[in-house]
Amino acid sequence: MDLADLTRDLETLRDDALEAIATASDRASLQALEVDILGKKGRLTLVSRGIGALPVEDRPKVGAIANPVRQAIEAAFTERDAVLHAGALEDRLRTETVDVTTPGRPVARGTLHPSLEAMREIADIFARFGFTVYESPEIEDDVTNFQLLNIPPDHPARDLWDTLYVDLPGHLLRTHTSPGQIRVMRATRPPIRALLPGRCFRYEAVDASHDFEFFQVEGLMVDEGTTMGDLRGLLDEFARAMFGAGRKTRFRPGYYPFTEPSVAFDVECLVCGGAGCPACGRTGWMTILGAGMVHPVVLRSGGLDPERYQGFAFGMGPERMKMLKHAITDLRLFMDDDLRFLGQFR
Ligand SMILES: [Zn+2]
Repeated sequence: MDLADLTRDLETLRDDALEAIATASDRASLQALEVDILGKKGRLTLVSRGIGALPVEDRPKVGAIANPVRQAIEAAFTERDAVLHAGALEDRLRTETVDVTTPGRPVARGTLHPSLEAMREIADIFARFGFTVYESPEIEDDVTNFQLLNIPPDHPARDLWDTLYVDLPGHLLRTHTSPGQIRVMRATRPPIRALLPGRCFRYEAVDASHDFEFFQVEGLMVDEGTTMGDLRGLLDEFARAMFGAGRKTRFRPGYYPFTEPSVAFDVECLVCGGAGCPACGRTGWMTILGAGMVHPVVLRSGGLDPERYQGFAFGMGPERMKMLKHAITDLRLFMDDDLRFLGQFR
């Protein structure tokens, strides 16, 4: 092999390469061609190995011949690639269209938790009657949670509230929102119209209608001359606003240590309309809340004179309102994290 042979080989390779590059139809085949010619085991590399077989005096001249060949091939690749790229872009522009009138993908918006939504609904209804929302602590002291509400330490009614105690002497997780009554009476003066929504805790075995953690909404009204007739009228309005106009309601005797007399407030069954069905235990009625006239002991605990002031209180479960309205049979769904359930309330 001499310099003339190498020159001929390189020129042949260059001509072949330039033709192949010019006719490459897409970028993928052009890339394959590039590997085939310029790659580590490519044809140009193989031809260049012939340099080793040249006489020593010819070797310095090789560069002058081989470099222009490599440069010409590399330039051809660059140029062809640009052409193919532009073509591919044009093809895409031709085939892929953007319809700017197509509606966008909907953004997934969260919803209020049904318990919170129910509490707001209840608060909205009572706000029409002048009730203001107060918040009261979830960690409460035994005195306010029980004793000031007419439930002394040895009172059998304590059995009704299985209590979760916290690691702080004399303190517990409130078992009901009623201690808020004491706090409101002490913080304000009559006339009092307060709504006390919040989370409560009881040491309960969890089942379809009990949870160890639940929400309550408590209401308190205290003024001079407040009667049970006011309570009944207010609750009737509430039941109609919540469950629809024309619903029949009734009071049944009930028992709470902090109200006297105490009642259960029933509304005509939402499923059967009063005829009697499995949902209402064939009674035609559904209990929606408990209520009563504030016990004189509780008024005194709140710093008020029971000879001058009377009041009533009521308490309900916001989840129960939702369960009755939507025929939900399992309370546990509210504390689970299943969005298929939670997302149904908007
Ligand atoms: Zn019924």
